Amino acid sequence: MFSGGQIATTDILDNYPGFPESISGLDFGQALEKQSRKFGVEIFFEQVAELALKQDGTFLTRTAKETYSTRVVILASGVNPRMLGVPGEKEFIGRGVSYCATCDGAFFQDSDLLVVGGGDAAIEEAIYLTRFARKVMIVHRRDELRAVKFLQEKAVSHEKIDFFFSHILKEIKGHNNVEIAILEDLVTKEEKQIKVDGVFFYVGHDPNTSFLKDISLSLTPGGFIKTSEKMETGVPGLYAAGDLRVKPLRQVITAASDGAIAAMAAVNFLEEL
Ligand code: NAP
Repeated sequence: MFSGGQIATTDILDNYPGFPESISGLDFGQALEKQSRKFGVEIFFEQVAELALKQDGTFLTRTAKETYSTRVVILASGVNPRMLGVPGEKEFIGRGVSYCATCDGAFFQDSDLLVVGGGDAAIEEAIYLTRFARKVMIVHRRDELRAVKFLQEKAVSHEKIDFFFSHILKEIKGHNNVEIAILEDLVTKEEKQIKVDGVFFYVGHDPNTSFLKDISLSLTPGGFIKTSEKMETGVPGLYAAGDLRVKPLRQVITAASDGAIAAMAAVNFLEEL
């Protein structure tokens, strides 16, 4: 296990203030951990199975090893890459299908790769994959990208990147590994078979909130947590910070801001008790 969440799986963090030379996502996660420990934070690398709320307002955080009893919990469990659900996707995970370019990109030297999605993650990671791949093809369901302009410009002008706009991925085929991607042109309804060695999915993220099923929270249909400006969830003593909450911008800088606000609100809550 490592610190940093989604950012630790990103090659370069180049839009966080104070790092003009940019820093790798992994190094940034480790620096956060080091800095927290310096201030006395204890870190336990355990998966939370369940969060329960007792009648006296105490939270019980259960992991496989331990149950932690606290009066305050700040949820910062982030998000996980979403699966698209096309035939072949699940079957070829680890055999050409991936959700993490920084983890798996180096296995695809001189390969032809397909990236699915048109958001910041898809475009950023497609650019990263050009370090290894012979060619990177981006398939996006609309005729314009969602990603921020500077990423779009970088990708559009990149000699190794091609686009399939207004196309969707319908199926992945192969024997032992991924060999063929079947795309549909949404305008002409034509199907195309493309030879690919790998498919990277970036079609959004789902919040990691399944361990909260016994606590009544205000969630969006997609499972994101609604909070106040002070990161309060509506359950006294329970706060949420970062990508798992409803917010207009999901970046490290907004996650850090959420964390600071939640921590301050939690301290005030405990003092009032
Ligand atoms: P996102 O912004 O939600 O983009 C998801 C992409 O997948 C969209 O282009 C969407 O198409 C497409 N998509 C979704 N469902 C699909 C489907 N069923 N079939 C085909 N395509 C589908 O997600 P993200 O790129 O993972 O980013 C998540 C958040 O992290 C965003 O807030 C983003 O700004 C942030 N982020 C920031 C940075 C950075 O600051 N450098 C880097 C990475 C991520 P449509 O466009 O048609 O909806």
